[in-house]
This record gives sequence, C-alpha cells and structure tokens, in this order.
Amino acid sequence: MNIHEYQAKQILKGFGAPVADGAAITDITQAEAAINSLPGPVWVVKSQIHAGGRGKGKFVELPEDAKGGVRVSFSAEEALANVKEMFGNTLVTAQTGPAGKQVNRLYIEDGADIESELYLSILVDRETGQTSFVASTEGGMDIEAVAEETPELIHTIGISAAAGCTDADAAKIADAYKLEGTAREQGIALFKVLYKAFVEKDMALLEINPLIVTKKNDVQVLDAKVSFDGNALFRHPDIMEYRDETEEDAKEIEASKYDLAYIALDGEIGCMVNGAGLAMATMDIIKLYGASPANFLDVGGGATTEKVTAAFKIITSDPNVKGILVNIFGGIMRCDVIAEGVIQAVKDVGLEVPLVVRLEGTKVAEGKKLINESGLNVIAADDLDDAAQKIVKAVKG
Ligand code: ADP
Ligand code: MG
Repeated sequence: MNIHEYQAKQILKGFGAPVADGAAITDITQAEAAINSLPGPVWVVKSQIHAGGRGKGKFVELPEDAKGGVRVSFSAEEALANVKEMFGNTLVTAQTGPAGKQVNRLYIEDGADIESELYLSILVDRETGQTSFVASTEGGMDIEAVAEETPELIHTIGISAAAGCTDADAAKIADAYKLEGTAREQGIALFKVLYKAFVEKDMALLEINPLIVTKKNDVQVLDAKVSFDGNALFRHPDIMEYRDETEEDAKEIEASKYDLAYIALDGEIGCMVNGAGLAMATMDIIKLYGASPANFLDVGGGATTEKVTAAFKIITSDPNVKGILVNIFGGIMRCDVIAEGVIQAVKDVGLEVPLVVRLEGTKVAEGKKLINESGLNVIAADDLDDAAQKIVKAVKG
C-alpha cells in the first residue's frame, strides 16, 4: 500500500526525523488557513498523488509552459494562486502513465534553503537478503538515470537484521554523502531513525529524494515516498487510516475484498488463471501471439464459486477488455468450480466479448460438461498454446 508524501512525513516526524512544517488541504476552501499557518517567506505548494516526478510533471488542463506539480512560491498570494491553478487538475508525470492523476490534495510546506540534494532509500535487497540503504549524492533527479549512466555514484549499505542500523553503518552512509560537522551528526541520528521506522512500520520501500543539506548545514527530509508490505498491514490499523482509495484502481479494490491476487494492466485480453506462475506464463504467451493482457489474476488454489464469479465480474467491468481467456490447470483448484463460477458470472452480467476456456486437471470432465451444457458461447481450447492463439485471433481477427 502506498501513501502520500505528507502522510509519510507525519510518520517520519513521529519517529523524530527532521521535516519541514506544512499543512495538507483536501478542499480549496482550506487553502488560505493552511498558507497563513506557515511563516513564509517561502511556501512550497506540492501536489499529493501516489506518483513521483511531480516537480517535472505537466497539467493536462494548463498550457504547455505552465509550471509543474511542485511550486516554490515567494508570497502568500503567489502560493494561493498556485493552489488555485493546480487543485482538481490532472498531473502527468514520468510515473503516472499518460492518463495522469487528478490532484485532490495539496501539501503546503515551508520553503527550505537548499545547499545540496541527496538520494536515500531503504529497501529489502533480495540479492543479499538484507535491508539495505541506497545512498547517492546525486539526489533530486531521476535515480534510474544515475544508476544507468554513473553507477559508481550509487552506494549500497546492507544492514544486519540482528544488529539493526549501528553507529558504524550510519557512519558509512554519512561517508557516502561526504557529510561534515552538524550535518554528519544529524545524518547519523537520522539514518538510525529511518531504519527504525522502516522496520517498526513494516515498510517495503522508503525513498527520500531529496534528502537535503541546508545552507546552515542541517539535514532535512524534503520528499518522502513510502510503500508498506500489504501482508503486514493487519498489524498497523493506524497506517490503514492513511489509505486513499481514490489513488487506487477500483477493480483492484474490489478484488482485494475477495482476496484475489489481481493487478490491472492496460491490454485487451482479460485473464483468469490459477497459480501465479501460470498467470505469468499466460500473460507472456498472449504477448507472444501479438496481443496484451488486461490484467494479472491468480484466483488461488481454494477459490469458491463466489470468488470465481467475483473475479469474472471484475474482468468484464474493464472497458478495455475485448476478450477473455480462462486458463485453469486444476491441481488443488477444481475445474468444475471454475466452470460454475464462470457460468454464474455470465448469467449475472452477460458476456459481450469472446471467451476462450482451457481447462485441465482435477474434475476436468465435469468442468467441460458444465460449460458445454450451459449454452454459453465458449471457444474451447486444448492447451495453453492453442488457447492463446484462439483468443488473440478472436480479438484481433
Ligand atoms: P517530486 O520528486 O515528485 O518531483 P519533490 O518533493 O522531490 O517532488 O520536489 C521536487 C523538487 O522541488 C525538489 O527536488 C526540491 O528541489 C524542490 N522542493 C520540494 N520541496 C521543497 C521545499 N519544501 N523547499 C524548497 N524546495 C523544495
Ligand atoms: Mg522527489
């Protein structure tokens, strides 16, 4: 689960990290009070969407030369004008996809006096099996480009889960940034605090880009992006409060109610598959034959008819879906349960696109019989290769 920058900063502030004062607004009528709650002389008005690259983003509704989604403002009037220009409009950044995201919340923050911008993240590093800090002096910009062009400027510092982030670890990170004096002292304290927050709150990713050193040689968290491990959220009701469903795909929210592993994609072939590996292979083979999957979906081993029905409805609710491929290899999952779910869902919502069904494994004869006798307009397939070719042909002609 992702949260907004201002929420991430609230959490980090609670752990003692240095963040600027700020006020979030969810309605334009709150703007003046928010601006007046800060002393100035510089206000920064920041779009709150679940995507980065906001500073360099463009608003769909504004002229090409309008400023981006993070605006430094030198008077209260200018800050208010920026709020009015941004609020409710659609921001397109390198991370939002071409459709962009509507800005329904803004964060108004004290302007910082920046000497340098650094990059910091904490993540679970699968290669070393450790939680690692990733540090680079090249902050504030596209870290992927830095990794590509100048990988020597990126330092990875692994942390032992048993010992936690020690003074020696924190000193290594400070060295990577070449911090000195007060910034070094504050940095060492901050890195330990960030690690504590990461572990205690079950974060999957904490990215601070930029972490800044101010002209007074203080360190400050200037941007914050946090993702939480969804499997640990049950331990954190306080974090669940931060969930902003308007930032999530409606189909994914619906799927989560049924405990379905569903991820919306932008292709035209809806997929209902059991097993994550088979689901990946199904998406690959659809690509191989020249079309694109509309979703990833693993209905799981013990799916009930109710769950399969829900899954089918979610797939058909996607207006991009021009055909559906059901690919079930019944091991724990039974083919007859899948067949019943599909039939029930079609009865409930109808079927306006071609449907290819490939069933194999437990109770396959019963499953096929149910589908054959249902009167549904189903294209039967013998194996995965055949199924993929048939659905692509049905959709693309
Ligand atoms: P994004 O990464 O989505 O573009 P950031 O929060 O990193 O958004 O902001 C982009 C840039 O705007 C920063 O790199 C920094 O230069 C500037 N900026 C952001 N917040 C402030 C602030 N409070 N004071 C001064 N400059 C800021
Ligand atoms: Mg940033």
